[in-house]
Amino acid sequence: MQWNKCPVLTGMNPGKLKGYKMRKKIQNQIMMKFIQSIVVIAVLSSMAFSSWADDKALKIGVLAKRGKEHTLKRWGATADYLTENIPGYSFKIEPLGFEEINSNVANNSVDFILVNPSIYVELEILYGVSRLATLKNLGPGGGFTVFGGVVFVKSDRKDINTLEDLKGIKSFMAVKETSLGGFQMAWLELKNLGIDPYKDFSKLIFRSKHDSVVYAVGNNEVDAGTVRTDTLERMAMEGKINVDDFKVISERISSSDIGFPYKHSTALYPEWPFAKLAGTPLEIAQQVAIALMKMQPDDKAAILGRNAGWTVPLNYEPVRNLMKDLKIGFFRDFGKLSLEKIIKQYWRIIVFSLLFIILLIIFIVYTIRMNRRLTSAQKELHDEIAERKNVENVLAENRDKLSLQLAKYADALEHQERIKKYHALTSLLITTLKLRPLLQKALDSIVELTGSKFGVIYLVEKKDRQIVPYVFHAISPTKLEVSDMGATTPGQVISDRKIRHIKDIPVNCEIRVDIGIVSVVPNEIVMLPLISKNEALGVIVLGTIKQYPDEEIPVLSHMADQISIMLENALANERVERLSILDGLTEIYNRRYLNIRLSEEVSMAVRSGNNVSIILIDIDYFKKINDNFGHQVGDDALCAVSKILQELIRNEDVLGRFGGEEFLIILPLINQREAGLVAEKLRDAVEKTAIPSMRDSSVTISLGVAGYFDSGAKSLDDLLNKADKALYQAKEKGRNRCELAEISA
Ligand code: GH3
Ligand code: MG
Ligand code: MG
Repeated sequence: MQWNKCPVLTGMNPGKLKGYKMRKKIQNQIMMKFIQSIVVIAVLSSMAFSSWADDKALKIGVLAKRGKEHTLKRWGATADYLTENIPGYSFKIEPLGFEEINSNVANNSVDFILVNPSIYVELEILYGVSRLATLKNLGPGGGFTVFGGVVFVKSDRKDINTLEDLKGIKSFMAVKETSLGGFQMAWLELKNLGIDPYKDFSKLIFRSKHDSVVYAVGNNEVDAGTVRTDTLERMAMEGKINVDDFKVISERISSSDIGFPYKHSTALYPEWPFAKLAGTPLEIAQQVAIALMKMQPDDKAAILGRNAGWTVPLNYEPVRNLMKDLKIGFFRDFGKLSLEKIIKQYWRIIVFSLLFIILLIIFIVYTIRMNRRLTSAQKELHDEIAERKNVENVLAENRDKLSLQLAKYADALEHQERIKKYHALTSLLITTLKLRPLLQKALDSIVELTGSKFGVIYLVEKKDRQIVPYVFHAISPTKLEVSDMGATTPGQVISDRKIRHIKDIPVNCEIRVDIGIVSVVPNEIVMLPLISKNEALGVIVLGTIKQYPDEEIPVLSHMADQISIMLENALANERVERLSILDGLTEIYNRRYLNIRLSEEVSMAVRSGNNVSIILIDIDYFKKINDNFGHQVGDDALCAVSKILQELIRNEDVLGRFGGEEFLIILPLINQREAGLVAEKLRDAVEKTAIPSMRDSSVTISLGVAGYFDSGAKSLDDLLNKADKALYQAKEKGRNRCELAEISA
């Protein structure tokens, strides 16, 4: 150090005040003392540091497998050897029990470690210790860096020659479970042969010391034992045993083993390594390694350490594999998953899994609850559905009932409707006494009431015993003919006076029903006789393309009865009416009707200007007929003449009996001359017609003709007078002739 360059001293200005100089002097003295003290401290410190560096103690942890004292004895010289050969460091042996090793390495309480290979492998893995040298073990042929296990029995055991022979009930002794050469090597060989010493031996005993194992086998205490190589040879050399008393089984000799002098039953493994801890400086470690390599077999350290020195560190991989295979030491749980390991390694997955499981549980609970709710909701729904079905059934029942009632009601309504129609029919029937309109209405109504397609009413013509189709519904009159009673089915019904319900209509039936563009044979026909007061009046024939229900037939019969009554009334009425206007004998119109009609015709002529003529007829010498043939024949003659006249005149002409043996014919729209021609025709016909009751003789007639406008008649009576005058003239002129009234100017 250059003291004058001290920053404290430089920078001062020496040439200033006197006082200042004094002060300066004192200051310099103090400064000098301070510097002196600093220097003293620095020198002392330097000396102390130098002494610490010289005495640096390094500890070598050694596995004390035979006790601490024994360890110190054996390895103390090696520590001294290193202290001597490596300047500035002192080495010390620290004997460590099996249990102390890990903690000392973990705490860096030692700098180096000398342990057996299996412990080394474990420390290498756990704490990163690294080997510096491998021990050359001392043997009869020199130093050997490998060792193995020897499995042996007493030589007289002929039954045990190989490791396989040990399987079964044999008792077995080894040094320690943790002893590599004294157990583990043999264990691996046995394991590879499928023998588990813990299970397959009747007894597995550990006896701590190699020599004890040898003695135990020698004493037949156990069947077999294992110790590290060189034990048997050493004990023999020491005179403890006779080597011939023992037999090594499954003795191995392999190419790699060549030169290895000891009997062995297992593979060979590297000897003990000398290793440094991870924190031990590399420089010192290198010096230690070099020193160990330099150690000679005759060095005190080698002799006391019972070795031939040290060699370069070997590969401890075989040891590691052995431990792995046997799952011992560090590999005890290899392949097994400890909870702690799992938690350490997989804590994230575990946490997530737990969270997932919790969520899953929550979800499951939720699902179960939902499910319960759903189930109960389903049950409710099910109940509701059942209830609804119930209600629906009740509704359906009620609906059926209702429809039944409705049907009944409809029936009732229909019935009522029919009754109405029926009443309509009866009320209709009493509205008229005119035969044809009455029957037509009756037929239309009954066709409608019965749902028929067609209908006919036949009436009985009394005189001729014939039936006449009188009114029609939806059927052509031309298809129906007047027929004799009994010749046709309707006629038979009238005769039988019984309803006939015909269900099987022959296909060739002539009566057909039009249904649209085609006509078909009716499906059923019903015939209802019209009977009143035991008199058969006619028959109603109805046809349908459907059916007439049997229960409706009585109703039809009832209707027919009603119609019969109305028919009878109408007929009676007609008869009365006819009687009032007809001549009782000749059944031609009487004088009363002639007067009515003539009056109408004359009025019409006056009103319309259409002519009308009359012919007044009188039978010649009728009195003589009565006289000659009797009154009855006279009546017949009257009837015969009236018939001749009726047949020859037109439908529009009106013939009537004017009195006694006189007839009058009204000829509407005919003038006097034309009427004269008709009169002449009539005269001729009467003259020529033989009357049977008059022994086929005939009568003659005289005729007087007068045309209303021709004769210049002023009234009905005037016209009649003019015709009567003409008739009188015909009588006057000789009878059997016809005369025309005088033509008016
Ligand atoms: P003519 O007319 O040619 O001069 O001679 P006439 O014999 O026909 O004339 P008259 O008027 O004298 O006789 C009519 C007779 O007719 C008198 C009467 O006995 C008879 N007579 C009238 N009504 C009926 C009748 O209903 N039945 C019958 N049998 N005779 C009747
Ligand atoms: Mg006469
Ligand atoms: Mg007369």
